[in-house]
Amino acid sequence: MDANEKIPTAIELTITGKLTRADTGEPLRGVPVELHVSTVCRVCGRALSVPESVKRGIGPTCLKRVNQAVKDYKETEEAEV
Ligand SMILES: [Zn+2]
Repeated sequence: MDANEKIPTAIELTITGKLTRADTGEPLRGVPVELHVSTVCRVCGRALSVPESVKRGIGPTCLKRVNQAVKDYKETEEAEV
């Protein structure tokens, strides 16, 4: 990136990998890890300004909607059993 080039306001960073024990280097099986940072909400695309939201990659309003949808889905699933 050129030094004079403006940094875009919508930035996403995703790091995926495996967890290993720091003391032995032994890999922890079945524990995939993904770190995601985004300056825009992954659901609606609005800019995120609160650090907690940036870490999550989703704004508080969309988070509530997603959590509610998951809750509704689980309740539907339980009702069908
Ligand atoms: Zn959103």
